[in-house]
Amino acid sequence: YAFCSELPKIELHAHLNGSLSKSTMLQLKRHYADSSLDDKSNIFFDEFQIGAGDTRNLSNCFQVFGIAHALTSTPETLEIATKMTLQEFDDDGCCYIELRSTPRDTPHMTKKQYIDTIAQSMQKVSVHLPIMSRLIVSINRSHPISEAEIITDLAIEYHKKYPDVVVGLELSGEPTVGKFEDFVPCFTRAKESGLKITLHCGEVCNPEEIICMLNFKPDRIGHGTCIHPNHGGTENTWASLFKTKTPVEVCLTSNVNTKSAPDYASHHFKELYNAELPVILCTDDKGVFATSLSQEYRICAETFDLDQTQLARLALNACQFIFAQDLKKPLMSKILNFMDKYSL
Ligand code: 5GP
Repeated sequence: YAFCSELPKIELHAHLNGSLSKSTMLQLKRHYADSSLDDKSNIFFDEFQIGAGDTRNLSNCFQVFGIAHALTSTPETLEIATKMTLQEFDDDGCCYIELRSTPRDTPHMTKKQYIDTIAQSMQKVSVHLPIMSRLIVSINRSHPISEAEIITDLAIEYHKKYPDVVVGLELSGEPTVGKFEDFVPCFTRAKESGLKITLHCGEVCNPEEIICMLNFKPDRIGHGTCIHPNHGGTENTWASLFKTKTPVEVCLTSNVNTKSAPDYASHHFKELYNAELPVILCTDDKGVFATSLSQEYRICAETFDLDQTQLARLALNACQFIFAQDLKKPLMSKILNFMDKYSL
């Protein structure tokens, strides 16, 4: 475990409001209690965490984000949430993170202020913490297209304003609601403006949508659960992934706890890794699933019998797929130095 913790790691799939730890949520709750804002003391923390034996299915899991959202409704609390989450990833030995979040209008801020607050918090953190961070703006597929258009415009605007912070646009939210096809114009516009694209893809069995997404040529996809025929995919979905070699952000504990995968041993990481397709180990929602990036590396090593060199190579390879082009080389050097130190 010490090795997984010390290994410099790359996090490419972490939703801000799903990453809030218990201590961050307590601090946020205190902030609301101390201010004249509406009282959040009725928030049920116990329902936020989804463990292995949880009876909630993937759809029910989406309800928990409302708990986090109630605690990040002001610029001040959103800033605290961003800073504390980055601090926790840093403490866990993460050297680079692409944090993602869905801009919301709240009674206390607009979507624009939402992005602005996270972008500025990231810049502030970079002054005193070694972790390097970037923002991927999220579009929720279960919300109207008109909202996606507004968010796309903001992502493009902020990519121009803060090119060293806002690097990508992604599609997430309840996978059984909405059609990717309807969001294509937004993602096309973002791509043409220089934003990188990642899509939650194949979280539920929907071969047509998987093919449509892979044909769009996103820079990465999230989960990719139902792509291999062993996991509800088809020969075509697997062939398409194999041909495009689209990197997959893999979230082991998230998939097991939401029962998208029956257990760790039968997780589709195995098929992806054996086929030598690019995979990146990620946490998804470390707060909701009570995990950490080093824990995901440890679980992966234990489940699939990977040695230290193989684990370090996973972190090293992840550098190739980061959205901040300028950081690829320095991050690779950092991991290679670590490997040298351990004679890997
Ligand atoms: P936020 O974007 O508010 O910072 O983070 C929470 C949001 O991320 C959720 O409301 C949901 O839209 C998205 N999200 C978090 N985890 C998952 C996941 O496992 N799958 C999908 N499709 N979306 C997720």
